[in-house]
Formats: sequence, C-alpha cells, structure tokens
Amino acid sequence: MSIEPIYFRGRRFWVLRDDLIGGEFNGNKARKLAFLLNSNLNHINRIISYGSSQSNAMYSISLLAKMRGVKFIYFTNHICDFLLNNPCGNYAYALKNGMDIKISANPSKSAQDECKSSTDLFIPEGVAMREAELGFKEQAKIIMDFAKKNGIKFDIFLPSGTGCSAAFLAKNLNDMSVWSVPCVGDAKYLKEQISTLDPFNKVKILNPPKKYHFGKLYLEIYEIYKELLDSNIEFELLYDGVGWLTLMNNLDKFQNEILYIHQGGILGNITLLDRYKRKFN
Ligand SMILES: *Cc1c(COP(=O)(O)O)cnc(C)c1O
Repeated sequence: MSIEPIYFRGRRFWVLRDDLIGGEFNGNKARKLAFLLNSNLNHINRIISYGSSQSNAMYSISLLAKMRGVKFIYFTNHICDFLLNNPCGNYAYALKNGMDIKISANPSKSAQDECKSSTDLFIPEGVAMREAELGFKEQAKIIMDFAKKNGIKFDIFLPSGTGCSAAFLAKNLNDMSVWSVPCVGDAKYLKEQISTLDPFNKVKILNPPKKYHFGKLYLEIYEIYKELLDSNIEFELLYDGVGWLTLMNNLDKFQNEILYIHQGGILGNITLLDRYKRKFN
C-alpha cells in the first residue's frame, strides 16, 4: 500500500493509503480481518457479532461472510427510523450481503449467548480481538520499510474507536511513536481499551479540541472534511473529522514528519453526508 504526501494548510503530511487496500475490503477493517481472510473458514457455519447499525466493521464482516458462504448474525440495540425507511451506506450494503440483523437491549450479551457450537465464530465489536494483530504486523512493516528506504522518521497519527488499530500498530513498530485521539468515549476509556490489548503499549493519547459525541454533526468537522477534499483526498467523517481537528490543534507536539493512517470507511460517509447537507447547506 502506498504512502504519499499531501499538502494541507501549507505543510506536508504523509498518508498511508489503507483506504486503497483494494476493492471492497479496505482500511483498518481489512487489516483487522486479515487473520480470517487468510483462513478458509471451512469449519465455521456462522459469524456472530454486534455493534452499531452503521458500523464499518459490520459491513466488512458481512462481505467476508458472503465471500466465504458463511451466515452472519449481527446484534444491535437500535436502528433509527431514517435508516429503516431509507437503507443506505454500510447498513444497506451489509443487508445486501445477507446479514441477519437482530435488535437487542444488550447486544454484547445476546451475541455471546447466540454462540452455541464450535462452528460459531464470535467477533467482538469493532473486531477488537487479539487475532486482529496479524494485519498490523504487515502494516508496520510497510511503514518501516518506507521510512528506511526514504530516510524519514515518522510520528504516526491515527484516530481511534476501540484502539485496536493503534495498539497493534504501535506494538509492531520499532523506534517510531504512535499518537491517537479517542473518537468514541474519552481518553481514559481509550487508554484502558488499548491496555487490555497490549499492557506495555506506548501509544500517546491526545484530547480532541472539544468533546465530540460520536455520530453527531459538527460544522467544523464538515468544514475540515471539505477542506481536505480540496487537497484531493477524501477522509471519513466520524473518525477522521475528529482526527484532523485534533492533529491540527497539536502540531507543536510533533518533532518528526507526520504520517496519518487513512483507515478507509468512506462508504460510511454516504449516510453522514446526506445528514450534513440537510443540516448545513
Ligand atoms: C473502525 C474505524 C476506526 C476505529 O478503529 P479502532 O481500531 O477501533 O480504533 C477508525 N477509523 C475508521 C475510518 C474506521 O472505520
């Protein structure tokens, strides 16, 4: 995957284009699911998971299940009326891939209870599991090879949900620091999440310029998204919006060239752009 420079507000940033990993599988969900993509799943009949009804992880798992002819059952606590009446984005594509979505007041418990036999595979929310590390070994290698070949030292930045990507990327890098920002929950929550995956992690956590509620609309997020689009690159709105605002607010903290990990998720923008345009245009 390529690492390329973009020029934004008069300075250079490097971007790892994991959004271009290839075809429908892309971004950090492709990295997280690498351990399954590389296995034939012959012994699995059903994949069972849970989370939000618009999640990128949900969509990526639905695709994997379809490709391998495995059933996919997904628990969520709520599907908003708008989405029910106008299926679009990740939700619509996952349904098309054959996802069986079920409503539950306690999706995590329902999903675990649903797993009854060794032919059921349970995937936690956001694919935040140990096995996900495999794909990040490859990602870390790409970054280290590029850095060595070009004589660059990077400070790496990526926005987090579960922190799984940041934890496993940092774990597999030598001599480069990894920075992140919580987009779901606060810094304390993110630190805890990362520590359960890697107790010895050195991930540096920044705070967003203000409290952003995951999934809510903010004018400054829409604006920085459009400004980046003018630099010829599309980022995802939920995570990268907060990510870029936080990065630009903390530039003084970075001593080396900045490498931003583009973690894909553009498909999720369809629903959000629709809402943004109705609200702010
Ligand atoms: C899922 C996702 C994240 C969050 O990744 P974690 O490993 O859960 O921290 C960030 N950005 C995008 C675009 C995503 O789809």
